[in-house]
Amino acid sequence: MKKYVGSLAMFLVFEAVAVSLWLTKNNLFYLLNFTYIGGCIALGLALLVSGKPYARRFVQLAVGSYMLVYLGLICRENMQIEGFWYYLFLGVFEAATIHYAVAKIFGPLLFGRGWCGYACWTAMVLDFLPYKTPAAPRKKIGWIRYVVFIGSLVFVSSLFLLKLANLERIMFRAFLAGNAAYYVVGIVLAFAFRDNRAFCKYVCPVTVFLKPMSYYSLVRIHCDEDKCIHCGKCLKACPMDVEVNKESRKRKNGTECILCYECKKACPVKALR
Ligand code: SF4
Ligand code: SF4
Ligand code: SF4
Repeated sequence: MKKYVGSLAMFLVFEAVAVSLWLTKNNLFYLLNFTYIGGCIALGLALLVSGKPYARRFVQLAVGSYMLVYLGLICRENMQIEGFWYYLFLGVFEAATIHYAVAKIFGPLLFGRGWCGYACWTAMVLDFLPYKTPAAPRKKIGWIRYVVFIGSLVFVSSLFLLKLANLERIMFRAFLAGNAAYYVVGIVLAFAFRDNRAFCKYVCPVTVFLKPMSYYSLVRIHCDEDKCIHCGKCLKACPMDVEVNKESRKRKNGTECILCYECKKACPVKALR
């Protein structure tokens, strides 16, 4: 039972968020929403520690498709970065602002880039492509993420400055167009660079929040460097080019870790935990 403590703790964290938001905002939706997401993540973690190879994909599909189809398409909430700016400028702590606060800004202090490994609906599709580990060295084009980040901010600011009518409808259309663009660019880059996660490494604007916050993450992969025999198997297994056979938080690409645990599975001497 001891091995399931982590999944229970994660469920309790989500349940605390669920109950707090339910009571403070007097809206049952928050209780159901965060209970569902926390339940899926806790179940996925339990499957992971039980050694089930499909555990991560289960959570990705259960949470990612719920957020894309139910929250995005049915409830018409723009959950992309443009939606975050939109609700922030409106001054309301709703939908995308809550989602960003929990999953992408403050949550990463606890669970790093767990969002990227277990819940993102863009990566949910990209992870089905054939290049699970990068077939070529990393490119020095990570600056693109900052251009996209600033572009999203300029786009939403312009909507307010121009005082356009029907902002809700524009934001919903932006959500549809933005997601379509992410999928097309993500798939093209994956094949061009033979790397499923190329979009995450170079283009995704959300990483501007995720990377600095996850540097301090409580949950991280630890390496016992005394046990390591420098076989390099973990480095080959990593989809994000993390120098995981170093213990330091300053390890190369350390803030790219999506907690997929492929490195741990590959290590022959159990140096990673
Ligand atoms: S980097 Fe962006 S696209 Fe990739 S998994 Fe994270 S949030 Fe999703
Ligand atoms: S393989 Fe290891 S270091 Fe690489 S992203 Fe997955 S958990 Fe992180
Ligand atoms: S797989 Fe294990 S032993 Fe090999 S380099 Fe990585 S940490 Fe070291």
